[in-house]
Parts: sequence; C-alpha cells; structure tokens
Amino acid sequence: MIQKIKGTMDILPDKTPLFRHIEGIMREEAEKYGFGEIRLPTFELTELFVRGVGDTTDVVQKEMYTFLDGEDSITLRPEGTAGVARALIENGKYGDTMPQKYYYIMSCFRHEKPQAGRTREFFQFGTEMFGADTPAADATVIALAYAVLKRLGLSNIRLHLNSIGCKECRPAFRGALTEHFSSHTDELCDTCRERLGKNPLRLLDCKSPICSAIAKEAPRTVDHLCEACATHFDQLCKILDAMEIPYVVDPAIVRGLDYYTRTVFEFVAEGIAAQSTVCGGGRYDGLVESLGGPALSGIGFGMGITRVIMAMEKEGLANITAPTPRLYIATLGEKAVPTAVSLAERLRRNGFFVECDLVGRSLKAQMKYANKLGADYTLILGDSEIKSGKAFLRDMKNSEQTEIELATFTLN
Ligand code: ATP
Ligand code: MG
Repeated sequence: MIQKIKGTMDILPDKTPLFRHIEGIMREEAEKYGFGEIRLPTFELTELFVRGVGDTTDVVQKEMYTFLDGEDSITLRPEGTAGVARALIENGKYGDTMPQKYYYIMSCFRHEKPQAGRTREFFQFGTEMFGADTPAADATVIALAYAVLKRLGLSNIRLHLNSIGCKECRPAFRGALTEHFSSHTDELCDTCRERLGKNPLRLLDCKSPICSAIAKEAPRTVDHLCEACATHFDQLCKILDAMEIPYVVDPAIVRGLDYYTRTVFEFVAEGIAAQSTVCGGGRYDGLVESLGGPALSGIGFGMGITRVIMAMEKEGLANITAPTPRLYIATLGEKAVPTAVSLAERLRRNGFFVECDLVGRSLKAQMKYANKLGADYTLILGDSEIKSGKAFLRDMKNSEQTEIELATFTLN
C-alpha cells in the first residue's frame, strides 16, 4: 500500500466543511478591509526565500524543500510573503496607488518534525499590505486577524505585541544581545553558536530549552528603540486601545523571519500546550528593497488554518458539518427510475440538494440510507405513483405526509 508522505494530510469530505467555513470567513473579512486575493506559484527560485526569508532563519537553514530543476535550484514555498513581494515587484504594482493589499489562502511546505499543529504541508491564510507605514496600518492588519478569530467564535486568544526596531536602533540592540549571548557561548546549541556572529536576534527565537532560558534573560528590544520606533509603537498601542483590541506587550516575540522591522505580533491560543501560535506577523519595511524593488514598507501576517482548528476544537467550535439533502427520492421497481432520476435533476436545476438511489438498494435499505444522509424529506416512487402522477412527500422530522403532483412538484 502506498501511503501519504509523513507530515501531509488527507482532508476528507467530513472535514472540508470546517475548512471551508473558516476559509470563507477569512475571505469575507479580508475583503471588508479591502484586501484582494492573490494566487501565486507553489514553487519559486530558492534564491527568493534565501533573500526574502533570510539565510540565518530556521526556515531557510533547516526546513525548505529544495531541489534542482536542470540548473535552477527551486524551493516549495515555505511561506507566502516573499512570493507576494516578488509578484508586486515583477508586476510593477509598486507604481500603483498605495496601499497595495493582498490576501491568500495557500499551502506552504516546511521540512519539520511532524506533530500536532505542525505538518510538512500546511495551510496558511496570509495578508500583506505594502506602502503604508503608519501605526494605523499596523493596527488595521492586526484588527483583521482579530476579526477573523472573533468571528470564528474564539475567545481564549491573546495578542502578544512587540517592536523589534529598525535599521537605526537595531545595531545597538544587536550589540547588547551579542554581549549577553557571548557570555553563554558554551551552553548554546550548535546552530545558535554559529549564527550568534551573523544574527543574534535569531537566538531569541530558538526553541531549544537551554537557548530559550538564556534568551529569557536577554536585553529587551523595547528598551533599545530609537525615538521614531518608540513613537510608532506607542501610537500603535493607543490605536489598539481605541479599537478595543486587547494585547500584552511581550519582549519575547521577535518572529522567525529576517525581514521584520518594528511591529511584530502573534495571536496565541491559551490553554493549548504546544503549537499554540495561531497567527504570526509583523512589519517588514526592508523586504521589497532587498528583493530588488523600490523602498516600500510592508506589514502582514500568516495564520495557520490547522492551528485555528485546534483552538476551535479546544473551545468546542469545530463541529461544522456538510449540508444534508433536502430530499431523498426512493424508487420501488425499475420503471420508476427514469422519473426519479429526472425529478431529482429538475430539482437540482432549481437549486436543491437532492439524492436518489444509484445502487439498486431495496426500498427498506433506501429509507435507512435517506435517514443516514439526514434528508429533510423523502418521496417514494413506484408503479402506482408513476401511473397516477401523484406521490406522498414525507417530512422526516415528524413523519407527516403530503400528497404532491409529480409534474409540478418543487421544493421550497
Ligand atoms: P512556529 O514557531 O510554530 O514554528 P513560525 O514562526 O515558524 O511558527 P510563521 O512562519 O510565522 O511560523 O508562520 C505563520 C503561522 O503559520 C504560524 O503562526 C502557524 O500558525 C502556522 N505554521 C507555521 N508552521 C507550521 C507548520 N509546520 N504546520 C502547521 N502550521 C504552521
Ligand atoms: Mg516554525
């Protein structure tokens, strides 16, 4: 038996209604905020992610699916932002009216250790806003993520907020960090020891227990912000307060990707032990330029759909089921089949969900099946019904029967 690849999933029709419910809310909310859907290639040149995500990140160092296609090194997208930025540049969208707002629902690929809430192919709802660098832009993007989570009914979700500064204040903070971690060099994991010289910020994001304990004692970005960044962060907090979006300032949030500047945030589902971050995002003002475009600010987030589902399950919100038929048409004898099938077809053309027998079940088995499907009504067609053109419509809830004319019958 050939089995699916480790860390991938089959989503069967009993679960797709939940995915579609969630994705429908994501689309509707994104469009309320003026974000337009963008669809992008599943694979890109590896170089895009090395530059756009950053060569000192876990994603690039450990998690990418990379392969050679002739001479080209190609990677299955591990995230959405770099691709959207590439598309913005390639399609000349930076010349359009700002801000440019995009959203997507896409699968991403990361070679990680599969576990609950962490798969190798996963589904992400993402948004990106380019060309708006005000605190109001940050607040609006955060508000969109919040609106989605609220509309899904989640209440145990907490917004963690931080600022990691900009080109101006980063060097001083880096210095302070390097100093802190250097005094623990011997205890650090191999990856961190190696990237300490290159990008000490990454060490704040390391998941190894020893590194994260050392990171807890590290200097805080918010204490090292330049005046412009401090003002930006302060304004953002004021706007979130005015929007009545609760948050905690959390110096531990630095985000795993290299391109972030200033605002970074995560929505965390309380009460879920691991993989509780349902959404992560932030500002990436240097990204477009680093990919060869003009200097253009950006902010966005990625929301993991399976993580959202875990949070919904925890709060008893995940019981979204497939629609059930309005009508099941049962047949008794071969002669009734054309009438039943064509009546079903006419009703479907009128917009209704109708089922009829396709496998030659006995009448008793058909009624059992109609029950299992959860049909609202059933109709039994046999020789006498075909002859008279009349039949009894049975309401499955209360077993009430109404006589109907087959030729003119329709549902409502
Ligand atoms: P984590 O710290 O959990 O590894 P991350 O920082 O790598 O997350 P991002 O790159 O910010 O994650 O991706 C945005 C969101 O996508 C995450 O908050 C999470 O909800 C989801 N996500 C990331 N990786 C996975 C995965 N392997 N499986 C399922 N969902 C994921
Ligand atoms: Mg990760």
